[in-house]
Amino acid sequence: MINLEIKKEVVRIAKKADQMELCRHKSGNFSMIDRREGLVYITPSGISREDLTPEKIIVVDLDGNIVDGNLHPSIETAMHITAYKIRPEAGGVAHTHSRYSTIFACMGKEILPVSAEAVLYGGKPVKVAEFAPPGSKELAQSIKEPMRDSDVCLLKYHGVIAAGEDLEKALIKLIYVEEVAFLYYHMLALDHKDFMPQEIFENMING
Ligand SMILES: [Zn+2]
Repeated sequence: MINLEIKKEVVRIAKKADQMELCRHKSGNFSMIDRREGLVYITPSGISREDLTPEKIIVVDLDGNIVDGNLHPSIETAMHITAYKIRPEAGGVAHTHSRYSTIFACMGKEILPVSAEAVLYGGKPVKVAEFAPPGSKELAQSIKEPMRDSDVCLLKYHGVIAAGEDLEKALIKLIYVEEVAFLYYHMLALDHKDFMPQEIFENMING
């Protein structure tokens, strides 16, 4: 059964990400999964956030077949489905082109956990997936390795993706990846080299 509340939540979080300047206009895509029904609710392709309404959210099955909706689902639907398969606890997936995160994605450089805020997305370096063109099957495959032990990863020359227990939690992870990317970028610009030791995160997470 199609759940209107899930559609409304996808719209709410997509608009929130836009308001927070993590994505603009038509870029970025957002989804939630109903695991009991095996359905993914995802933002449509080519619709500006301004014009996004719950009726425009597309529902697909886990093979990407459209179950409900009149528009094309996001071109990154396959990538979202892959994220749900490799992160079995995830209830929501968000992908944006957040500025500082995307600087590191374009450089192909991991974002080190340089401040305590990194704990909010697991406290590990944010890995970079191998390059694949946006919207390709290869891009959907590329996140498998970096997301095997992390809810977040960078997409080379492109952006960032996060999975969360629900979509709001996925967005919060993107917010903190962006925050740490901002800090790390400036530390590198100041030629700082003595970063926060990894053991501190391990202790914060495990202790
Ligand atoms: Zn993208």
